[in-house]
Amino acid sequence: MLMRIAIAGGGLGGLTLARILHRHGIGAVVYEREASRSARSQGGSLDLHPESGQQALAAAGLAGRFRSARPEGEEHRILDPAGRTLVHHKPQPGSFSGRPEIDRSTLRNLLLDSLPGDAVAWQHRLVAATPRPDGGFGLTFDGGRSADCDVLVGADGARSVVRSLLTDATLSSVATLVELSIRDADRRHPDLADLVGPGNLWCIGVNQILAAQRLGDGNIRVGISLRADDRHLDTYRSKRALLDLFDGWDPSLTALIEAGDGPATPRRIEAMPTGTRWAHQPGITLIGDAAHLMPPVGEGANQAMLDAAALAAALAADPADPDSAIRTYEEAMFTRIHPIAEMSARVQAMMLSPTAADDIIRFFTPQPTEPAAAY
Ligand SMILES: Cc1cc2nc3c(=O)[nH]c(=O)nc-3n(C[C@H](O)[C@H](O)[C@H](O)COP(=O)(O)OP(=O)(O)OC[C@H]3O[C@@H](n4cnc5c(N)ncnc54)[C@H](O)[C@@H]3O)c2cc1C
Repeated sequence: MLMRIAIAGGGLGGLTLARILHRHGIGAVVYEREASRSARSQGGSLDLHPESGQQALAAAGLAGRFRSARPEGEEHRILDPAGRTLVHHKPQPGSFSGRPEIDRSTLRNLLLDSLPGDAVAWQHRLVAATPRPDGGFGLTFDGGRSADCDVLVGADGARSVVRSLLTDATLSSVATLVELSIRDADRRHPDLADLVGPGNLWCIGVNQILAAQRLGDGNIRVGISLRADDRHLDTYRSKRALLDLFDGWDPSLTALIEAGDGPATPRRIEAMPTGTRWAHQPGITLIGDAAHLMPPVGEGANQAMLDAAALAAALAADPADPDSAIRTYEEAMFTRIHPIAEMSARVQAMMLSPTAADDIIRFFTPQPTEPAAAY
């Protein structure tokens, strides 16, 4: 009998999994809560790392298409609050050796376009999964629809519903992120477009960061990172209140806040405890943020896609025994993720510390090699 695989969540992890399974001739249905691919803005751009995100795209047969990403987006500058440049990294012209940026929506569309039309069931928000006595799960969706599956993969992100079937790990707040968008920056704000450049800009203060990122569509995404606190998120909606937080910073930098179109969007950034693992249970597993939500310092999407590639490879290698495949995937994933989650927590703490600028310069400065022994 054909194994029925249900993937809860059509983000980067869930779609990569569906695509690679499909290439191996294994069908899977992705249940996604959003109404369509364009229901929600997908946020900023990502850099895909050769050893994780790019490897998963290769397994998905989409590496060639990824070359349309923006290698120049790898350029980044780090400034202090006075606007002085602390670090300026420029990729080699014409190179594709590093971590080119790709807009999240472009990447998601690349994956969606690679799947059969009926692979994604839109507007299916999973609300409950109940183990069936004969194995597998009964799934209930918002609005009362239901489905059955033999294998359930939770790819349903930070606030995963599937996670609670495997672990009671709780989330803790690690930062507050306030986002603004500047549309059509080259035409409307050429000075800011110049300041941000083709990639990323980080202005590092004491316990706070003002960042900006150029997207492929000509918009600039501004992100303000603050230490986690108990203040109501609405506090951060007004640009006036945000500008007060950056009192004393060079006006050429705070202009990024002033130029934001519409009100700011604040949200809490959360993480799971590092080292989270669970005891294997038949017919169910997690990938991506559902499995290991970590501070957003450049690994989450990459690891979500690598999880997908690893799980798909294990299932394809042993389709008759999905539980052994899931076990193999989980053990390797726990071992791979633990140091990455620890590093992400350390970098997040460093970015929002009083000595962040010095720490970051040290982080980006190549350490001198040991002096050669004199004979
Ligand atoms: C500000 C910010 C910047 C980041 N930058 C980077 C970066 O540069 N590089 C990087 O590698 N990572 C980055 N990350 C992390 C990255 O976004 C995530 O780790 C990644 O998106 C995880 O992929 P996922 O598929 O597990 O989850 P998601 O991408 O969150 O996808 C989950 C999907 O599940 C759906 N869903 C949720 N609940 C349900 C439900 N109950 N039923 C059905 N569907 C559901 C959602 O609608 C969504 O489509 C960043 C994160 C943030 C917040």
